[in-house]
Amino acid sequence: MKRHYFDYAAATPLDVAVEKAMKPYGSKVFGNPGSLHSFGQEASAAVFEARDAIAKSLGCHYSEIIFTGSATEANNLALRGVVKAALKAGIKNPRIITSQIEHDSVLDTCRDLEKEGVEVIYLPVNADGMMDLEKMESELDERTVLVSVMYANNEIGVIQPIAEIAEIVRNFRSKNPKASYPLFHTDAVQGFNYLNCKADALGADLLTLSAQKIYGPKGAGLLYAKKNTSLAPIITGGGQERGFRSGTENVSGIIGFAKAVEVADRLREKENKRLAILQKYFLAKLKKVLPQAKLNGGEKNRLPNNINIYVPPKADEKGTAQDLVINLDLSGFAVSPGSACSARTCSPSHVLKALGHSDIRAISSIRITFGRQTDKQSADSLLKTISNLK
Ligand code: PLP
Repeated sequence: MKRHYFDYAAATPLDVAVEKAMKPYGSKVFGNPGSLHSFGQEASAAVFEARDAIAKSLGCHYSEIIFTGSATEANNLALRGVVKAALKAGIKNPRIITSQIEHDSVLDTCRDLEKEGVEVIYLPVNADGMMDLEKMESELDERTVLVSVMYANNEIGVIQPIAEIAEIVRNFRSKNPKASYPLFHTDAVQGFNYLNCKADALGADLLTLSAQKIYGPKGAGLLYAKKNTSLAPIITGGGQERGFRSGTENVSGIIGFAKAVEVADRLREKENKRLAILQKYFLAKLKKVLPQAKLNGGEKNRLPNNINIYVPPKADEKGTAQDLVINLDLSGFAVSPGSACSARTCSPSHVLKALGHSDIRAISSIRITFGRQTDKQSADSLLKTISNLK
């Protein structure tokens, strides 16, 4: 049976060029980049080159890149690191503003920080998944140390106007007596393949990326932290990454990350156009073959690779998306019930709930995400199989 993958928001396959670039950094170049001898220096030079190449892609300085073990860790470093530094600087009762549709690595970190006395404002979104910028602006106050809003949502692909949000935060900051706050962080993990992530275009102080979502290896993430951003480490030890993230560098992962960034930069425009056409085609055909299905999140301001649909259960079905996901898998199609991180449980998606949808809708929706290997033929086969199962 031919298998078709439609879960690129959860994981992407390693690009062949990435795999090739990483190969020497296992048994051949294996030194610890912290070692003084030539084995170590060889590895250290390779990490530096990769850091510099990623910095060039983001339009920043290499010293503004902090490699981490995942995007989850980078988000933790952004949130916890800013709060820690603010507390150290004497800011009492720090406050964070975020949205209700963030990835769990942000939301759960916020919930944990609340237990430590940090106030967190979870801003709502409208039915299309867009944040109300006036509301966000009205929530900014002198205690706000961080605003964290994701670039593109991992479940519904909705894109927030990050440059505008950054500007609002910057304007407020310029009037704030504690002039270094609030800072602005964006989780750009799902955006990098398709959107402009240049530091100056976005204006974020902190930005998270993950290699595994851009056809790079798992276990490699990064936090861009603009020069002079007040950040404290959350992992201490050997002082790697300029003291912001101790732990021996994942050399092959970092090399693969840089190559993945290079390839993504090269393919971005072309893939954007190709997948936008495919997305439009898929949605139009879906209306015909499965008229009862409804798109979750607005059609505008959406990543070109994301389709998240409510497929109402039939009268004789219990109705969770898991049944459909399993039946599709048995037919050779990999899709996701909501976000990858909630695939193990079947509680209603917090993102779909934030859009104002019912528990039934939030539990009976599937996420279909396209990628470099998705073509019209495989999209047609998926549509045919869904309509046969429903
Ligand atoms: N942020 C977003 C938007 C994501 O989609 C994900 C993963 O799905 C993460 C963060 C966490 O990434 P990782 O599992 O690589 O830590």
